[in-house]
Amino acid sequence: MSKIEMKTPLVEMDGDEMTRILWQYIKDELLLPFVDLKTEYYDLGLEHRNETDDQVTFDSAYATKKYGVAVKCATITPNAARVEEYNLKEMWKSPNGTIRAILDGTVFRAPIQVKGITPCVRNWEKPITIARHAYGDVYKASEMKIPGPGKVELVYTAEDGTEERVLVHEFKEAGVAQGMHNLVPSIESFARSCFTYALDTKQTLWFATKDTISKKYDHTFKDVFQEIFDKEFKEKFDAAGIEYFYTLIDDAVARVMKSKGGFIWACKNYDGDVMSDMLSSAFGSLAMMTSVLVSPQGFYEYEAAHGTVQRHYYKHLKGEETSTNPVATIFAWTGALRKRGELDELPELMKFADLLEKATISTIESGTMTKDLALITELENVTTLNTENFIKAIRTTLEGLM
Ligand code: NAP
Ligand code: MG
Repeated sequence: MSKIEMKTPLVEMDGDEMTRILWQYIKDELLLPFVDLKTEYYDLGLEHRNETDDQVTFDSAYATKKYGVAVKCATITPNAARVEEYNLKEMWKSPNGTIRAILDGTVFRAPIQVKGITPCVRNWEKPITIARHAYGDVYKASEMKIPGPGKVELVYTAEDGTEERVLVHEFKEAGVAQGMHNLVPSIESFARSCFTYALDTKQTLWFATKDTISKKYDHTFKDVFQEIFDKEFKEKFDAAGIEYFYTLIDDAVARVMKSKGGFIWACKNYDGDVMSDMLSSAFGSLAMMTSVLVSPQGFYEYEAAHGTVQRHYYKHLKGEETSTNPVATIFAWTGALRKRGELDELPELMKFADLLEKATISTIESGTMTKDLALITELENVTTLNTENFIKAIRTTLEGLM
C-alpha cells in the first residue's frame, strides 16, 4: 500500500512524561505506517527547553507562523519541584503561555463524544465548544486590602499629564479593592478568532458578558464583537447558514443547560476558566477533550487538553503497566493533519484524519478502552487495555476501515 502524501510539513512540538511516550506510540502505530509524514520537529521536552534556554519554544512558535499548522504534545510547566527534579537553570515559563503570546490566539476546547459515555446533561446531543479569551481581566488585576476608612479611586493619567478619575468607593470600614483591565486589540483578536473558527467548523457562535451591570467594561466586549461581526463576518455567516448570538452571561448559562449542544460558546477569561472545567467534567473527562489554539491570522496549534499525566509516567518508569488514554493526543494529530490537508488541498490526508478519528471512537464504542473510560462507561463487558495495546487495537480497527 502506498503512503498518503503530504506537501507542507506540520510543526511537531514534542513534550514530556507520559504524553511523550504516547506521542511515539501514536506516530509508530497510527501515523507512520499510513502517511508519508512530513514534520519540522521541535523538542519541547523540559530537558531540551533547559539546554536551549527555552529558545526552542520560541522557535516552534515562529515556525507555526511560517507553516500555519502545529501539533503539540503536553509539556511540563515548571514549578519549584520541577526545577529541582530536572536541575533547571531557571523556572522556565509555560510553553503554552509563550506560544499563545506569540500567536495571539484563542483556545477552543471541545469534548469528544462516544456512545456509552453519556454527558451528565441528558439533552447535550452534540459537543459544546468553549472559546476562552486568554488575556487580562482578573488574571492581570491589581488588588488592595483596605485597612479602614478612606477613599479608593481609579486614576487614568494620559501621556500629556491630564487626569481622569472615578470613585471606586468611599470606605467607612475595612474592605478590599481591585483594578483590572483589558485591551481593545486583544478583544478584537479574540472576536476574529471566534468568528473564523465558527466559519471553519460551521457552528453558530454564542457570546455573553454582563454588560447590563458593567456598562463600560463588558459593554466594550459586546460592542467590539458586534462591530467586527457586522463589518467582516455577517455575509459569510449568512452564506454558511450559521448565526452570531449575543446574550447576558446568566441567560447563556441557563440556555446552555437546556440546549442540544453543537455550538461555540465564546467566554471572557474568567467565565471560560470556570465553564470549561464544568463542561469537560459534565461531558466525561479531560482525556476526551480536543484543544486548538487559533490565531486571528489563521494559524492553528492542536494539542490535548490534559497535562503530561505524571503519575502514570512514574509507573511506566518503574516498569509497571499503565492504561493512559491517548484519545486527546490522537485527535491533536488528526486535527492538524486534516487542517494541513485542507490548506494544501489533499483530500486523501483529510480522509485519513476522519478515518483515524472514526477508528478511535468505534474501538471505544465496541467496548475496548483504557481504564479511565472503563470506570465511567455504561457499556457492559468492556475490555480494559494497557496504553500500548489500546493503541494497537485502534490500529486494527483502522486497518479494517481502510
Ligand atoms: P494531568 O497530566 O492532566 O493529570 C491529572 C490526572 O488526570 C492524572 O493523574 C490522571 O488521573 C488524569 N488524566 C489526565 N490525562 C489522562 C489521560 N490521558 N489518561 C488517563 N488519565 C488521565 O495534570 P497534572 O497532573 O496536574 O499535571 C501534570 C503536568 O502536566 C504538570 O507538570 C503540568 O505543568 C503539565 N500540564 C501541561 C498542560 C499542557 O501542556 N497543555 C496542561 C496541563 C498540565 P489518575 O492519576 O487518577 O489516573
Ligand atoms: Mg480552570
